[in-house]
This record gives sequence, structure tokens and C-alpha cells, in this order.
Amino acid sequence: MPLSIAIDGPAASGKSTLAKALAKKYGFIYVDTGALYRTVGLHVQNLCLSSQDKEGIIEALPEIHIEMRLQDGRGEVYLNGRPVGDEIRTPVCSLYASDVSKLPEVRAFLLSLQRDIAAKNNVVMDGRDIGTVILPNADVKLFMSAAVAERAKRRWKEWTEKGVTMTYEEALEELSRRDENDQNRTVAPAVPAPDALPLDNTGLTAEETVAAADRLIRDRLGDRLRQAATCL
Ligand code: C5P
Repeated sequence: MPLSIAIDGPAASGKSTLAKALAKKYGFIYVDTGALYRTVGLHVQNLCLSSQDKEGIIEALPEIHIEMRLQDGRGEVYLNGRPVGDEIRTPVCSLYASDVSKLPEVRAFLLSLQRDIAAKNNVVMDGRDIGTVILPNADVKLFMSAAVAERAKRRWKEWTEKGVTMTYEEALEELSRRDENDQNRTVAPAVPAPDALPLDNTGLTAEETVAAADRLIRDRLGDRLRQAATCL
């Protein structure tokens, strides 16, 4: 049975940085499930639909074909045969992703894709509901958090480095809106699974966060990790 490590938590809590580093360290596949919701959001945005247009979004689902192709140790997302690349990383697409992800139809649409990858590969999968809904039997579940001011600072820095003009207040506003959406939605809210291990990385560097997570994972998996990992 392949091993699965689930990493959940709010936006900009450091999930993807940690998940990528752990996948590399252990030789597992990195699966960014946020990219799937972003891809649905991108398609909806390209159709010029409002992100609140529930009926329009549900009607569009049958024409969306999303694949995750395994490339260089990670799942690359393809929308109708085309790699989505960075088109899904804009601030507008983040909000589309957050809005479409509230719809149970969208969540159901993406469910088997996520489970199929974990059924066949050792994975580090990050998202909001991995430990609660997608992989309730994951071998290790981490739930990350960090102070919202620090998360907003990280997000602001990330956008600024990419050349997006955004103030700190705008980054804080975007995160707060997504936190509100993600934590309070009725389907699959972003909450820790009862058996998730909390990891607050406020004030920690990326390396310190990886070291803390690695300790928790080794404690939990012991020899099973050493047998599964290709590069330990
Ligand atoms: O992780 P990321 O910020 O890229 O995710 C984009 C959006 O997709 C989130 O704000 C969240 O609303 C949604 N999402 C989700 N469930 C997941 C992953 C992401 O609802 N497993």
C-alpha cells in the first residue's frame, strides 16, 4: 500500500513549500490539490461567468477535462489537454478557486482524481480537506497554521516578487476573504481532522518547518517511511 501524507491548512500557511520539500526528501509525488480548484476557477473565469454563478458553473463542468500528469515528482495539471502553468496563480483566479470550491458539485467532480493518484503512488498531498474527506485514512495528517499577519506578509511578498502590484492591506483582505470562505463553507470546510497533528509555523523559516514536520512524520511512520522513501 502506498503511503500518504496529508497537509491541510489555510492559504499562505506554508503548505506547498513544506509539501514540495517533503516530497523531494522522501521521493514521493507532490500533489497540489488547490491547483485543481484553481483550474476549475480559471475555466469559469475564461467563460466570463461570475464566480457566484452557481448554475452556470455546474453547467460548465461536463466540458472541463482535468488531468494530473506526473512530471518531475509532481502532478502537473492539464485543462482540456493544455498545461495550465502559472495562469492559475493570479489573485483573481485565487478568488474564483475559493468561490467554485464551495460548490459540492465541484468538490465531487475533483474527488476521484485526487484519490486515484494516492491509491497508486506515495504522495504528499496538500489542500484543505485532504485529512478529513479525500484521504481520511492518510498515514500522517498535518494541519498547518500561522498568524494571519504573517501569512499576509508572505503572500504580499510572493505577489510583489512576481511583479503583481498589491499592497499589504490588499493581500490581507484577499486572505481573510478566502479564510472566511474556506472555514465556513458547509461542504468540506478547512478544519483539522480529529487525528491531525498541528504545526504552527509562525516565526519559523521554511527549513525549520520542514525539520519540525519531518520529526512528526518519522515519529508516526518509523520503519514504514524508511521502506517507502527512495532517498533517505
Ligand atoms: O491551496 P490554494 O490556495 O492554491 O487553493 C486555492 C483555493 O482552492 C482555496 O482558497 C480553497 O478555497 C480551494 N481548495 C479547497 N480544497 C482543497 C484545496 C484548495 O477547497 N483541497
